[in-house]
Amino acid sequence: MAYQTINPFNNEVLKSYENISDEKLEQMLADSHALYKKWRGGPIDERKEILHKIAELMRAEKTQLATVMTKEMGKLIAESEAEVELCANIADYFADQAEEFLKPTPLVTDAGDAYYEKQALGVLFMVEPWNFPYYQIMRVFAPNFMIGNPMMLKHASITPSSAEAFVEIVRRAGAPESSLTNLFIDYDQVDQTIADKRVIGVALTGSERSGASVAKNAGENLKKSSLELGGNDPFIILDDADMNKVKKIAPSARISNAGQTCTASKRFIVMADKYEAFLEMLKEAFSQVKLGDPMNRDTTLAPLSSPDAKKNLQKQVDEAVASGAKVYYGNEPVDLPGQFFQPTILIDIKRDNPMFDQEMFGPVATVYKVNSEVEAIDLANDSSYGLGSVIFSEDLEHAKQVASQLETGMTFINQAWTSLPELPFGGVKNSGYGREMAEIGFDAFVNEHLVLTAKR
Ligand code: NAP
Repeated sequence: MAYQTINPFNNEVLKSYENISDEKLEQMLADSHALYKKWRGGPIDERKEILHKIAELMRAEKTQLATVMTKEMGKLIAESEAEVELCANIADYFADQAEEFLKPTPLVTDAGDAYYEKQALGVLFMVEPWNFPYYQIMRVFAPNFMIGNPMMLKHASITPSSAEAFVEIVRRAGAPESSLTNLFIDYDQVDQTIADKRVIGVALTGSERSGASVAKNAGENLKKSSLELGGNDPFIILDDADMNKVKKIAPSARISNAGQTCTASKRFIVMADKYEAFLEMLKEAFSQVKLGDPMNRDTTLAPLSSPDAKKNLQKQVDEAVASGAKVYYGNEPVDLPGQFFQPTILIDIKRDNPMFDQEMFGPVATVYKVNSEVEAIDLANDSSYGLGSVIFSEDLEHAKQVASQLETGMTFINQAWTSLPELPFGGVKNSGYGREMAEIGFDAFVNEHLVLTAKR
């Protein structure tokens, strides 16, 4: 595949990159493995300083770094800046927490003195998507850099410049060569890398298609894997929801990042008595978006990331409509050269509609009317996915009880989905397995090494 930076706002080809040879890949693997051996069992103080330095550089160069992402995959410049800021926060968090997370854990046993300690495992491979080009890398990079697992990165073919910019910041912060190696490789080389005996595991964020392929290969090679896949997240508006709060949150919960977020609220499940008012409110908000250059700070809805992204989304909307869904708002062509998609609201999606159980990756909201809370929970759980969910209710204890009944990895009550370094991120069912961020994410690729000393 070709690694190319093409601005989705105006389709200008900004940069192309050459794939690397198998020989070069072999050298990079050898160098990464050598670094693992050098780091193994050693102190972490220097890496802590470097990780803080990475955070400092990211904050200092926020707008330049953000511009790389915006020109490459189209997100609004303010969203890109917020992503850089989040990356800096993740770096600081793991730099500060690593010592505590790495402390040996004493074990209670009559057999003697026992504890387990968390050790590095070796070279970790990550395969990442384009929708959060820096954040996805940082979720894996920051904890594993502190653990001492050197990393190799295969980024999406449409975000190579973001990958290069990230690696460059790591290098300039003083990290040893091979701490993070960017690979311009094809899928066969992805398979080779996973199979290589120096690689101990693979962390993938992406679609079910790539997740299944990478996990199958990892399984065949007895390698650990973690999968952060797609979602079709429900946004449940209960009887006692404060609709003023819903109004402030719901539109952006769907259309921020041009709707291309795994945890975006994609299915709005609304009690019958609030259904019409909610639809009107969402339509009003969607009709006010300003499409345009994502570098312009007045623009409120960015283009999609690529021509393929737009084509696929249009196909899904067409199929939904052909199978009985109604367009409540939107789905009109946008008269701009970039990959723009008008915010769209679909209703009357029945369970036999093929789009009922598919992720739509763009600014398309589906809205469902329900007559009871039981029906809302049942509908929310009737999905192949199980990533995140949102509940709006003024009875917080009750909302928590509803959360307990949802088959998702995360629930956000009276607020939009979010991601913070100290909160574990991940899903169940076809949304994947494993968690990133927080201590759970830190532990994803460590050897929990038991040490038992016999009694004298
Ligand atoms: P994708 O097509 O699966 O691509 C993700 C990564 O996998 C890219 O680097 C891609 O490389 C690579 N890839 C694709 N097929 C592969 C294969 N057969 N073998 C090896 N590598 C392969 O996903 P995407 O469209 O870029 O990203 C959007 C998806 O990611 C959505 O479903 C979204 O919900 C999900 N996502 C999940 C999370 C989460 O934390 N759960 C976060 C963000 C996004 P190429 O670009 O070269 O094809």
